[in-house]
Amino acid sequence: MWQRSLLRRSFRAAAVATSFAGVGQAWSREVQPVTIPLPPPRPASLSAPAPLPPAASVAAEPPAKSEGSACVRNLTAVAGNQIRAAGPAAKPDSEECRVVDPVVVEALAVRMSSGPGQVRLVPPPTVSCELAQAVSRWLDTSLQPLTRGAFGGELTALRVGGGHECRRRNRQMQGQLSEHATGRALDIFAFEIGNEKLGGKAVSVERPSGLEQTRFLDAVRQSACGAFMTVLGPGSDAAHANHLHVDIQQRRAASSRFCQ
Ligand SMILES: [Zn+2]
Repeated sequence: MWQRSLLRRSFRAAAVATSFAGVGQAWSREVQPVTIPLPPPRPASLSAPAPLPPAASVAAEPPAKSEGSACVRNLTAVAGNQIRAAGPAAKPDSEECRVVDPVVVEALAVRMSSGPGQVRLVPPPTVSCELAQAVSRWLDTSLQPLTRGAFGGELTALRVGGGHECRRRNRQMQGQLSEHATGRALDIFAFEIGNEKLGGKAVSVERPSGLEQTRFLDAVRQSACGAFMTVLGPGSDAAHANHLHVDIQQRRAASSRFCQ
C-alpha cells in the first residue's frame, strides 16, 4: 500500500516531469523563434521603424516646398513690399540654373523716419525669394538707417542689374556657375537718396562723388558683409569695378563669408 502509493506518486512525478518536458519542448519549439534570437519583439520593432523613414522622407519633401512658398507668402504679406511670383518666363535654361521660388521684386518695405516707406529696385530684378528676403532685411535694418545717418535723407531706390541669369562667374565660358544662375545674387549699381527731382541724389558705386559718398559706400559694403555671404565691388576685380555684387551662396561654414 505504502509502496503502491509511493510508486503512484513517483509515477505521477514522472508523468508531470514528462509533461513538463513536453510543454518545455512544445514551448521552446513554439517560442524559440520568438525568444531565442529575440526576434519576435525585434521584427515588430524593426518593421515599425522601417516604414517610418519613408514617412519621414515624404514629410521632409513637402516642407521644403511649402517653405519656399511660405517665403513668398511671408514676403508678399508685408505691407509695402511689391513682389510677385515670377511667371513661366523665369523657366530655367537648365536644371542647374533653376531658381527656387523666383520672384520679381519691384519694391521692398522699410521703416523711414516718417513712417512706413519703400525702396524701389530699378529695374525690378527676378531673384530667388530667399535672396529677396535677405535684401529686404538688409535694407530695413542696416541700409536705411545708414543712409539716414550719412545724408539725413531716406534711401528710396536701388539701381540694380544681374538678377537671374544662367551663366558662369564673371561671364567666363568655363568654371563655377555664378550665384546669378540660381537667382541668389544681386548687383547694385547705385543708391538713390530722396527724390532726385526734389534735390535728392544718386550715389554711384563706380563713381562716388566726394568723401561723404565714398565713406557711405564703405559703410554700405561693411554692412552688406554682415547680411550676405559674398560681397564684391570696386577693387575686388575688374568684373566688379562698377557695381556691388551681393549673394547668399551656401558655404561649408555659415561663418565663412567672402568679403572683398
Ligand atoms: Zn553679380
